Amino acid sequence: MAAKIIDGKQIAAEMREQLKIEIAGLAKKGVVPGLGVILVGGDPASKSYVTAKQKACQEIGIYSDDNRLPETTSQKELLALINKMNKDPKIHGILVQLPLPKHINETDVLLAIDPAKDVDSFHPINVGKMVTGQKAFLPCTPHGVVQLLIKSGVKIEGANVVIVGRSNIAGKPLANILIQKNPLGNATVTVCHTRTKNLAEHTKKADIVIAAAGYPNTITADMIKDGAVVIDVGVNRVDDPSKKSGYRLVGDVDFENVKEKASLITPVPGGVGPMTITMLLYNTVEAARLAAR
Ligand code: NAP
Repeated sequence: MAAKIIDGKQIAAEMREQLKIEIAGLAKKGVVPGLGVILVGGDPASKSYVTAKQKACQEIGIYSDDNRLPETTSQKELLALINKMNKDPKIHGILVQLPLPKHINETDVLLAIDPAKDVDSFHPINVGKMVTGQKAFLPCTPHGVVQLLIKSGVKIEGANVVIVGRSNIAGKPLANILIQKNPLGNATVTVCHTRTKNLAEHTKKADIVIAAAGYPNTITADMIKDGAVVIDVGVNRVDDPSKKSGYRLVGDVDFENVKEKASLITPVPGGVGPMTITMLLYNTVEAARLAAR
């Protein structure tokens, strides 16, 4: 039987409605959540991500402070802007769009963000808190994946989860969230990567397969067991002359064939993507709520 498709857009829309209610509650206390957004340079993909994030902020009533800086911006200038935002009470969350131009040290920049405003959750203080199970902002894409599972009624506790990919923004934090002894976790997690011997041997045993490898067709139907839940984090461009842009977006999973075997599956686009921005909004509202206490 074909899998049920997890509608990330719908789940994200429901979460954003809930956030609007929380924002209305904060407004009664005179607080408007604020997100400071910094984009350095003109990378087209980064520009469209930043625009989408700002649009999402406006739609639910988050104040967005837009800073589009030229490619030639020095590290000193960027750090000065972050410092200004760290002190600005109207700004509760700071987002520096990555990647940064080569002459800027990404680690120095991420370390400069006040951990209380680090809504992307890349600061080592927040990473450390997540790993040790303390309350912290959770990184947006991994948290979005976990929320998709929960809101789709998937039992995470006790599940065998195989994550394909070990990056700092996707695979590693996902594994950390899913092994915690709390309602988002309690899974048994295997993290696979390019040095994993016989990837399929692992994925075939999984109740939940999460693909975050960055290559189309990394996960094919023969690699999953009947009834598995399959979450596709991947976003890859493949040539498509039938499209005006000349390309279309696909995930890491061979969706058409895997959906015939899985019980639940996320599409690309329309699965994990909408949740990533939603969790950024969620963290910004949470940061404002904490600042208003
Ligand atoms: P990344 O930094 O390139 O990491 C990819 C990981 O996958 C690496 O750990 C790599 O292993 C592993 N890998 C690659 N091919 C593999 C294979 N055939 N078998 C096993 N492991 C393999 O990528 P990323 O930043 O995590 O992103 C992954 C994908 O998710 C990309 O398509 C990206 O666009 C997408 N993404 C989407 C969202 C969203 O909001 N939807 C957010 C973030 C990322 P090694 O470590 O051994 O090299």
